[in-house]
Amino acid sequence: QAKDAGRNTLRLFLPSMQHVANERLKTLNDLRKGIEHSEFITFYQPQYDQNGCMVGAEALLRWQHPQKGLISPDNFIPLAEESGLIIELGAVVLETALSNLYSWIDSKQAPLSFQISVNISPLQFLQDSFVLKIKEALKNTSIAPSNLTLEITESVLLDNAKLAMEKIHALRDFGVQFSIDDFGTGYSSLAYLKQLSIDEVKIDRSFVRDILIDDSDAALVETVINLTSRLRLDSVAEGVETAAQFSFLKNLGCTRYQGYLFSKPLPLHEFKALLLSQKNLMSA
Ligand code: C2E
Ligand code: MG
Ligand code: MG
Ligand code: MG
Repeated sequence: QAKDAGRNTLRLFLPSMQHVANERLKTLNDLRKGIEHSEFITFYQPQYDQNGCMVGAEALLRWQHPQKGLISPDNFIPLAEESGLIIELGAVVLETALSNLYSWIDSKQAPLSFQISVNISPLQFLQDSFVLKIKEALKNTSIAPSNLTLEITESVLLDNAKLAMEKIHALRDFGVQFSIDDFGTGYSSLAYLKQLSIDEVKIDRSFVRDILIDDSDAALVETVINLTSRLRLDSVAEGVETAAQFSFLKNLGCTRYQGYLFSKPLPLHEFKALLLSQKNLMSA
């Protein structure tokens, strides 16, 4: 395209491409240094059942950058994925989340059944050693496999569905739970839910957002909830922000809820305080 437009355009075009490449390289170096200096931290966002009981939490990565402050995952996960650094980052999140869960259960701040959900990137999942690494992380932290839910996206099923299903089977036989994240945003279909052996479906927050104002979003969410309940899977609504959305979803039979209505993702010390207040609430 730049060539078609002639030499002058080509000269103008190149420096900006150079700039983009430089920025990328800088961020990549930053990312490497950040991992070395342990700048990545894990936040926790609670999940609730239909009665408003906290039954688990999703571990969400944040970058505590020395100059730029707290950076959200959307701003670095894509580059981490492209560069392969997500493998290291993913291992950090998994170890951190599992060892924190151990201390919450051990100190009776969380019930024995408390679920921790960890996002798994496609690259992580596709690694040959993935199944082994999950098993080892569980062993190292003394966490029962059934306390761990792995969130994968539909995209990991597209490339090599057979191999993907083998990995899911191996870990589910071991007791680990599987969740399909951002459900409805990918290319795969409802038929997948029947074939796959999974435990829950997370309804993407883009559908939950307009559930009360957009009939087609409401229809889609209703269909997904009906299907998951017929298949005896859990349905998790992501991004629940209002009481009206919550009661609408509850009427449809959604089984789990996560969103700002209940709590934003919290740093460890705030999440522990929330666990404690829940506990007092329940024993009161
Ligand atoms: P996700 O797994 O779908 O996580 C849910 C996102 O929705 C989180 O964004 C969460 O903060 C946000 N959210 C939850 N409730 C609400 C709400 O009521 N309103 C609004 N506006 N947002 C809500 P976050 O933490 O920025 O993470 C974004 C994405 O980054 C995640 O989406 C996930 O795909 C990815 N990610 C986060 N941590 C990790 C990780 O450790 N590994 C990998 N591979 N990806 C991660
Ligand atoms: Mg997720
Ligand atoms: Mg999600
Ligand atoms: Mg989402």
